Amino acid sequence: MNMAAQTLEAQASIADRVQVLRDTFANGRTRDLAWRKGQLTRLEALINEQQEAIAEALYADLGKCKTEAWTSEIGFTLSDIQHTRKHLGKWSKPRKVSTPIAAQPGKSYQLPEPLGTVLVIGAWNYPFQLVLAPVIAAIAAGNCVVMKPSELASNTSSLLARLIPQYLDQEAFLVIEGAVEETTQLLALPFDHILYTGGEQVGKIVMRAAAEHLTPVTLELGGKSPCLVDDDANLDVTAARIVWSKWMNAGQTCVAPDYVLVTPAQKQPLMEALTKALETFYGKDPATSKDYGRIINDRHFARLQGYLDNQTIALGGQCDEGSRYMAPTILDNPAADSPVMQEEIFGPILPIIEIANLDEAIAWVNQRPKPLALYVYSNSDACVRRVLNETSAGNVCINDGFMFMVNSELPFGGVGNSGMGAYHGQSGFDTFSHLKTVMHRSFRFDVPLRYPPFSALKLSL
Ligand code: NAD
Repeated sequence: MNMAAQTLEAQASIADRVQVLRDTFANGRTRDLAWRKGQLTRLEALINEQQEAIAEALYADLGKCKTEAWTSEIGFTLSDIQHTRKHLGKWSKPRKVSTPIAAQPGKSYQLPEPLGTVLVIGAWNYPFQLVLAPVIAAIAAGNCVVMKPSELASNTSSLLARLIPQYLDQEAFLVIEGAVEETTQLLALPFDHILYTGGEQVGKIVMRAAAEHLTPVTLELGGKSPCLVDDDANLDVTAARIVWSKWMNAGQTCVAPDYVLVTPAQKQPLMEALTKALETFYGKDPATSKDYGRIINDRHFARLQGYLDNQTIALGGQCDEGSRYMAPTILDNPAADSPVMQEEIFGPILPIIEIANLDEAIAWVNQRPKPLALYVYSNSDACVRRVLNETSAGNVCINDGFMFMVNSELPFGGVGNSGMGAYHGQSGFDTFSHLKTVMHRSFRFDVPLRYPPFSALKLSL
């Protein structure tokens, strides 16, 4: 078979496989609340029974230690399932709204209904959780789901492809592995919703493809998330929390603080506190720490190494190409126009930028694309209030790293260049539902005032 024929066959097979899901949705099976809860329970069983295999795949992909694999991927996903199953009954009930006198007697409400067959495209940095958290929401809302894990985290991708059909309804859930070619084929198909997690450039490709079918999208993108440290912040706690949120997964976290803004007076004490916290967490040589991760692939490793060129390295900077190890690295005041300050770092490098005062810090944030996350460490209510009122960001945490992630009640999503739409908890259920508007009128009291012919008497009332 020639290349063109092979491609046609592959396309047909992806389209045919997706069609099975569309048929399942059409037969109504996924609308049943008991079926949805059953699938969530099957997914929970997958995670509980396959914990070791999942942790091994995450270690093979990212050098992720077991504790991090548990807190940020496995345990995170399990508690999401439990939260969702517990609240699903309430979320799926009609949501009453008031009815004006003109429509009385009558009832008004919104009725959540599933969208249909949806596509979830995951990123590589939390390759398990970033696929399954949207899937949990989509199952809860009663959809069939096609999953496209990131090819860069190949061990986790193939594990998902192997396990999902063993545990979930094969006619309702499908994993398609692959890279650009397979994703392009998927994007050519008409889905009822697409949730994409990844970079801005591919986000635009996804949105363009979705526009062809008027498919709604949720884009979970990234960007440079600033971290403001006020002069009165408790430095030891601030440093511990910045180190925790920056160097988890070797900095490959969409909501990691990308850089720190701090006054010249506070810079040195903060650097010392960060250095101390890093040593406490990862020892004198983080290369030997079992808790410190590795860079996903050679391309990203070379990209990160490039950021160190012509910079003042205040700490770290050691690299080992063979194991893709890059030490926790702090840069002292890199220029605003240097690549490390122009692009999302997405790795273990933390620039510390001197900024004169809060006015300048706020202006700095506002001159740049709206970030996915913004962090402010401060004891001052006035400072916190100003940051909240005068800047925009997808998610904010005051006096900590990305702790908003642990609260399932909080929607998670970006704004502007960092994304659109949100999920987690009820916001995820709503993302994968249509909230159908319903007005239910009574046959009683059919006042004919609104019907033609419009007499002068009618109009005067
Ligand atoms: P990416 O955009 O390179 O890839 C993400 C997905 O898109 C993968 O599944 C990949 O196969 C697919 N893809 C890649 N190229 C494609 C193409 N040309 N056409 C169609 N599909 C294509 O992103 P990434 O490098 O995997 O992720 C890094 C980015 O993701 C960072 O910006 C990070 O901040 C962001 N991110 C955001 C979140 C969030 O929840 N908001 C979470 C993790 C990562």
